Amino acid sequence: MPKYEAVIGLETHVQVKTASKMFCACPNQYGAPPNTLTCPVCMGFPGALPMPNKQAIRKTAEAGMLLNCTIAPYSKFDRKNYFYADMAKGFQISQLDQPLCLGGKVRIGGTGFSGSEVADREVHLNRIHLEEDVAKLSHQGSATIADFNRCSVPLMEIVTEPDLDSADEVYSYLVNLKQILQYGNISDCDQEKGQMRCDVNVSLRLVGDKELGIKAEIKNLNSIRAAHRAVEYEIWRQTNELEAGNTIVQETRGWNDDTGESYSMRSKETVDDYRYFPEPDLMPILLDDAYIAEIRAALPELPEQRRARFIADFALTEYDAQVLTQDKALADYFEVAAALVKTPKILANWILSELLRELSSADGTINECLVTPQKMAGLMILIEDNTINGKIGKTVLTEMLQSGHDAKQIVEQKGLVQVTDQGAIEALVLQVITENPTQVEQYQAGNPKVIQYLVGQLMKLSKGKANPQMAIQLLKEKMK
Ligand SMILES: [Zn+2]
Repeated sequence: MPKYEAVIGLETHVQVKTASKMFCACPNQYGAPPNTLTCPVCMGFPGALPMPNKQAIRKTAEAGMLLNCTIAPYSKFDRKNYFYADMAKGFQISQLDQPLCLGGKVRIGGTGFSGSEVADREVHLNRIHLEEDVAKLSHQGSATIADFNRCSVPLMEIVTEPDLDSADEVYSYLVNLKQILQYGNISDCDQEKGQMRCDVNVSLRLVGDKELGIKAEIKNLNSIRAAHRAVEYEIWRQTNELEAGNTIVQETRGWNDDTGESYSMRSKETVDDYRYFPEPDLMPILLDDAYIAEIRAALPELPEQRRARFIADFALTEYDAQVLTQDKALADYFEVAAALVKTPKILANWILSELLRELSSADGTINECLVTPQKMAGLMILIEDNTINGKIGKTVLTEMLQSGHDAKQIVEQKGLVQVTDQGAIEALVLQVITENPTQVEQYQAGNPKVIQYLVGQLMKLSKGKANPQMAIQLLKEKMK
C-alpha cells in the first residue's frame, strides 16, 4: 500500500478555431511570417479599443455544452495585470470571477499511457473561461524574439477540480478532452502548433488525509505525453522531498522535456499579484435562453454517440467502432465509404488492418491519403462482386496508395480479374493433383490440413487470380 496519494488539477489552454483574433480583426492563423498579423489593438497601443469576437464566445459556449458545463447567462472580462514581453499592453484580458462556463465533467477510462487500466469515471471541471493568447517568445542566446501573430488569438482555459490522482488519469483526461474538442470543431488541438497546452498542479498527502498538501504547478506542457511525464516526475520528486523530511515549496516550475525533469522558476503568484479588475473597455457578455438553446440544438455528434451509431447502423463490433471513432477524420472517411458498399463490416476490417497499416508504414495520414473514401469503396465493390479476391485486393490497394488510381482501372490494366470459370479452375485442379501425388495421398488418408497447401499451389499457378472458394470446393470433389 503506497504511503502517499497524489492530488492533481489541470489548467488546459486551447486556442479556439476562429477566422480572426479575440479582440481585433487580425487573422487567427498559424505559420505566417513573424509580426505580420498585427494591428494597434493586439500590439497594445495606448488608446486602441478591443472588440470581442462573437464566434469565439459561441465556440466557448459550445465547448462548455460538450463538456457538460452550465453556460452563464451573464459573464464578464477582467484585466490580469502583469509586466512581461509577451503582452505589450501590460495586461491580458481574461475572466476572473464570472467566467462563461461553470462546472462540467469529462469521462475518463480505458488504457492509460503506461498500459495500466484507468478506472471509468468522470473528472469534474471547475470552469472554462475565455481570454486572449500572448505573443510567442523564443530565446536565442541572450536575445529574446517576440512574435505577436499569436498575441490575442482566442484562448479557452479549461480548469479541472483537483480531481485526478495519477499520470495515467491525466493522460486519459487530456486524450478525451482533445477528442471532444476536435469533434466539436472547437479547435484542431494541434500540439505541434501550440493549440493545446497545459499546466498541472500536483500535491501529495498521506493516504487517508483529507487536507490537501502543498502544491507545485508545472507550466506550459506542450503535449499530452509531456503532461504524463511531468506528473510522473513530480510525484516522484515530491515523494523524495517528503521522505527526506523536507517540506514542499509552493512554486511554479518549468519542464525540460529533453532531460525529463521539472525545475523551479519562481514562487507561485496569487490572484492578488495580478490586481485583477473588470475590463472597462468591454461590455459584459449576455447570453439569453433562446441563443443558448439555438447553440445547443446545433451541437455536433460526439465520439460516444457516433460509436453507438456505427454499431447500430453498420453492424460493427464495439472494438471496430471504438478505433474508427478515435480520430474524427478516420470516422468521417469510414462513413463516406460505408454508404457506398454492401458490407460495411468488411470495409471496416480493410480500413483498420490494411489501410492504416500501409499509412503508418508510409508515415501518412488519412487526410493526405491518395485513396479517397470513394476509391476505397470502389475497391470493396470489386471484392464484393467477386471481380477480384481479397489477396489481389491487397496488391491493388498498395498500388492505389502509390498512384492514386481507381481500383477498377488497375484491375483492368493489369488483368487481375478473378478466374471464376469452372472449366479453367478444374484444369488447374487436375494439374495440382498430378504434380503433388504425396499431398493428395495424405489428404485421402485423412489429413484435411493438406488442402491448404494444395490451394496455395493452385493460387500460384493462377497468379493469385483463382476464386479461392471455388478452388477448395473443386479440389475436394476431385480428391474424393
Ligand atoms: Zn490585431
